[in-house]
Amino acid sequence: MVLCPECENDLDVEEDDLDEGEVVTCAECGTDFEIVSVDPVELAKVHEEDEDEEDARESEEDED
Ligand SMILES: [Zn+2]
Repeated sequence: MVLCPECENDLDVEEDDLDEGEVVTCAECGTDFEIVSVDPVELAKVHEEDEDEEDARESEEDED
């Protein structure tokens, strides 16, 4: 059983079927995790909004 690092929900994936680089999504909190290792299973949170955060900072400077 693989638990979500964020909310500890059961991710409902078969550890034997996981491949490195595969992305699984937690059905409970909606967080995406990339499989960085399969033995033992290690998950890395996928950061999709990094670029958006930089854009938001630039916008704040413009408003000033
Ligand atoms: Zn979760």
